[in-house]
Amino acid sequence: MSRKKNARATLAIHGGTGPHRTGDPVAPPLVQSVNFIQEIGTETGLLYTRYGNTPNLVRVQQRLALLEGAEAALLLSSGMGATACAMLALLRPGDHLLTSAFIYGGTHRLFTEEFTQNGIDVTFVDPYDTRAWRKRIRKNTRAVFVESPINPTCRVVDLKPIAALSKEAGLALVVDSTFASPINMRPLEHGADVVIHSGTKYLNGHHDAMLGVVAGTALYIEKVLAKMKVWGHAADPFAAWLLERGLKTLDVRVQRQNENAMRIATWCDGCSEIKRVHYPGLASHPDHEIAKSMLDGFGGMMAIDLAGGGKATDRFLRRLKLFQHATSLGGVDSLVSEPRYSSHARLSSAERARIGIPDGFVRISIGIEDAGDLIADIAQALQ
Ligand SMILES: *Cc1c(COP(=O)(O)O)cnc(C)c1O
Repeated sequence: MSRKKNARATLAIHGGTGPHRTGDPVAPPLVQSVNFIQEIGTETGLLYTRYGNTPNLVRVQQRLALLEGAEAALLLSSGMGATACAMLALLRPGDHLLTSAFIYGGTHRLFTEEFTQNGIDVTFVDPYDTRAWRKRIRKNTRAVFVESPINPTCRVVDLKPIAALSKEAGLALVVDSTFASPINMRPLEHGADVVIHSGTKYLNGHHDAMLGVVAGTALYIEKVLAKMKVWGHAADPFAAWLLERGLKTLDVRVQRQNENAMRIATWCDGCSEIKRVHYPGLASHPDHEIAKSMLDGFGGMMAIDLAGGGKATDRFLRRLKLFQHATSLGGVDSLVSEPRYSSHARLSSAERARIGIPDGFVRISIGIEDAGDLIADIAQALQ
């Protein structure tokens, strides 16, 4: 049987590059120049970093499109820049956005504060209530937004019924797939129209570059590009170069993170100091079946509820040696963070508990260190 396309591990290294010639550099050159000499008397060949069309940007955009199975992709300066431009390309004042209630804190603020101030109506829906999605659709609804897996609870949303509903109503389904990376999920395969990533996380994978990605049809990406140019969210060439380097190991990194997280979650599940483990790979997880149907791997993100609550968490975090206490996720170094002091600091303790983030909740981004060392670190910190 002939294989139709290259596997993602190969695409992440070679996708979008032409035939190689003698003398070509194996590592791509970094072209930091923001502008390029243009032919006189024509508008073609007008290259400028803010237009997203300089060499490092173009290379990595082609590769990202191939990884997501999209016609085109655009690289932006951050995940938030990607979400803002992706949505501005779909929504105008007077339009209505239907969004999952469980989304990244920054995205939530963008929708509630910026969009509503600019005449875009926003309705939040429980993503597990398909009937609620249907009921909330209005005449002026234009787009549906979902994040999956969800930050920080690691819940997984079944995209298929939401995609069917969106298609039926003629709405664009936008999915923030940051937690999965294209190795674990390609939302377009499940009926989404647009995919968003914080490239800062798994795609780059080394906690050293800030980037965002939007992928979709070529026609739509043109519209996002038009927004990006004037709102000024283009990525820097050096960040794009770092991303290209990071992408080369995306597959091995994510496979290792999947394996590590599964081992660590399983170990934590049998630990009396831990009240609850949030990991979609565990059979006890509420979305385990959905996760099996949506994901190729259960991911490197997990969370634990410490039985001792907030005080125990403080002690636990101070004793950890390998896990570093820092925001962000998806890199080779394992990190821990507490949503009560970061993304969910603006909610009260009771409000957080109601949405599944009680005091004692620790979000863990599993890196690619040895799983045994990571487990030993957790074990000694719990003592
Ligand atoms: C981090 C993150 C973002 C925002 O990305 P930045 O690169 O920090 O702007 C959006 N969505 C999710 C799920 C994230 O984890």
